[in-house]
Amino acid sequence: MLTAIVGINWGDEGKGRMVDLLSSDYDIVVRYQGGNNAGHTVVNEKGKFILNLLPSGILRSTTVNVMGNGMVIDIEHLTKEVAALTEKGIAISPENLKISDKAIICMPYHKLLDCLEEDRLGDAKFGSTRRGIAPVYSDKYMKKGIRMGDLLMPKTLPDKVRNIVEWKNLTIKNGYGHAPIDADEMLSWLAEYGDWLKPYVCDVGKYLNDEAGKDKKIMFEAQLGALRDIDFGIYPYTSSSSVISAYAPIGAGVPGLKIDSTIGIIKAYSSCVGEGPFTCEMFGDEGKELREAGGEYGAATGRPRRVGGFDVVASRYGVRVQGATELALTKLDILSYLKKIPVCVAYSVDGEITGDFPIGDRLEKARPVYEYFDGWMSDISSCRKFDELPENAKKYIKYIEEQMKCRISYISVGAEREAYIKL
Ligand code: GDP
Repeated sequence: MLTAIVGINWGDEGKGRMVDLLSSDYDIVVRYQGGNNAGHTVVNEKGKFILNLLPSGILRSTTVNVMGNGMVIDIEHLTKEVAALTEKGIAISPENLKISDKAIICMPYHKLLDCLEEDRLGDAKFGSTRRGIAPVYSDKYMKKGIRMGDLLMPKTLPDKVRNIVEWKNLTIKNGYGHAPIDADEMLSWLAEYGDWLKPYVCDVGKYLNDEAGKDKKIMFEAQLGALRDIDFGIYPYTSSSSVISAYAPIGAGVPGLKIDSTIGIIKAYSSCVGEGPFTCEMFGDEGKELREAGGEYGAATGRPRRVGGFDVVASRYGVRVQGATELALTKLDILSYLKKIPVCVAYSVDGEITGDFPIGDRLEKARPVYEYFDGWMSDISSCRKFDELPENAKKYIKYIEEQMKCRISYISVGAEREAYIKL
């Protein structure tokens, strides 16, 4: 069985927490896109873990974890992430972690270029995480990427790095006027952080195909959400990768396999990191209260997130592009403090009321149309059955389910592994 777990909104929906919960049913967890530009937070009996690159199944001793060809991997960051987990008693070896030989390495010059460009843009900046993601994906499509498999080819790697560095310096030195990068430094960096990774690098597509053939259960874990997808998100305020479930088999290395089910992680309110239109945004004290209640600060960067009420228009679009077959509603407990819960039920664009998610200028001009739902004003974090929830919480859940036209099969009422309701 092949299942994708994906974000319906702007990311930070609580995917890591749901993958950690559900991964006990799966033999393998695969990351298929992105790099260390986002973070999954997982809380379990061993402590609190922030995973930027490693698949969330790494915290379970029996799960095999795969980093697919669709990923871009900062090997220095990966080294530190693995060290931090090892320190907390998580065993990591080539037995439970496999890295695609076709994944691209995010080099120090990608981070540098990310910073140089954001600084050049000034007030018009994209709100990049400055972790080199856009520059490294650009290089992938320019066919100037260094792949994990290159680490296994010591004869050809030096020349490859020298040629690429020469080309990069055309932009870094001549374009941005920055000091040039040095090929030997890049080679030392690759040796320092790459050499120990060699036993982990393999053809993960072959591995996954073989395991799928043995009826192993495979979970594809996405980073970010539908509204950050490079094609379907709020361009150009998107990530540089395909986050949608349809890309999962490609980014994992098994393009011939079909996903059986897609679980969309959908948050009970909205949050967004970075720039760009965010129609349902709350400001002032109202926004501050929700941000504090939800602990909405970036897992990867610590940046305060923008917050707002649940956005029916954007979420319905997210459900559609993700092809979600079921939903997990997260962070419902966070809304317990609200007497009236605002929900953005439609957009008003140039006086026209619409339920369709617009692009470009029309999205910039969109204004939220709110409806207010009665809150439940009580702690729901210990509820483990739907019937235990207050009536107003049930109404809120049913409303979202109807509007999304998709079954809600899980409700998360806390960050801990057991704090959820299965429907
Ligand atoms: P991800 O990138 O989608 O995994 O999301 P993040 O890890 O950035 O954000 C989710 C945050 O909310 C983490 O701190 C989780 O521990 C926490 N979280 C997830 N689900 C719930 C929930 O239902 N209730 C509460 N209170 N916290 C949750």
